[in-house]
Amino acid sequence: VREIHRSRGVDIRERTGLHRLIGEDGRVTGAELADGSVIPVDIVIVGIGVAANDALAHDAGLETANGIIVDSHGRTSDPAIFAMGDCAVLPWQGMRIRLESVQNAVDQAEAVAAILAGSSEPYDPRPWFWSDQYDVKLQIAGFGLGHDETLVRPGQREGSVSVWYFRQGKFIAVDAINDAKAYVTGKKLLESGTTPDRAKLADPDTDLKSLLA
Ligand SMILES: Cc1cc2nc3c(=O)[nH]c(=O)nc-3n(C[C@H](O)[C@H](O)[C@H](O)COP(=O)(O)OP(=O)(O)OC[C@H]3O[C@@H](n4cnc5c(N)ncnc54)[C@H](O)[C@@H]3O)c2cc1C
Repeated sequence: VREIHRSRGVDIRERTGLHRLIGEDGRVTGAELADGSVIPVDIVIVGIGVAANDALAHDAGLETANGIIVDSHGRTSDPAIFAMGDCAVLPWQGMRIRLESVQNAVDQAEAVAAILAGSSEPYDPRPWFWSDQYDVKLQIAGFGLGHDETLVRPGQREGSVSVWYFRQGKFIAVDAINDAKAYVTGKKLLESGTTPDRAKLADPDTDLKSLLA
């Protein structure tokens, strides 16, 4: 992925951080990184939205923990108040998670709307994510949180690859890069709760469909 971005003039720097921005006459001219290198800069975009701003909910007396804590019905610690989408911390497979994706915002909203209208069906998210960057299509099925093992499988065509995540031996997520087959197969395996055979999965000659049998 890094190579594809580089060919488009995007240079992704990993394992470093921003030490300081350098500028003169009120304009930024450079960025000094933690490793001492300096990159000339015209414009800076700050992407720091990792911590949820739950101050309003917290001040209103709702239970919060990097988001508004809800139960499987989207109900907050005040039974008359519901929360859903990016701001909600929901129970999932014994964990408490926030799912920051359009799909979850839509699905959870629909589930909570049904609950408000009388349903008692809990919200059981099936996380999936996507992102398109240049000619890289990233599709993710599942949620790799807490994984302790990964397996990389080369795709059928140039630039396609998938990364498969496992936790305590159980298959939990796949990142598919320009590899729709890997995404669809991973999604189906997750839906049926199946962990594929590692040796077969790692072999690029294995037809992914055979893993579903
Ligand atoms: C740069 C970027 C790229 C992303 N790319 C993807 C992607 O490729 N795929 C994907 O699935 N997801 C992506 N996401 C995530 C996705 O946008 C969010 O998960 C989704 O929008 C969450 O929907 P939401 O309704 O929960 O919250 P939001 O869409 O954030 O809506 C919350 C709304 O509440 C309003 N609001 C906040 N406080 C108050 C207040 N006090 N009073 C009144 N209104 C208030 C806000 O202005 C906002 O309009 C991306 C997000 C970002 C920032």
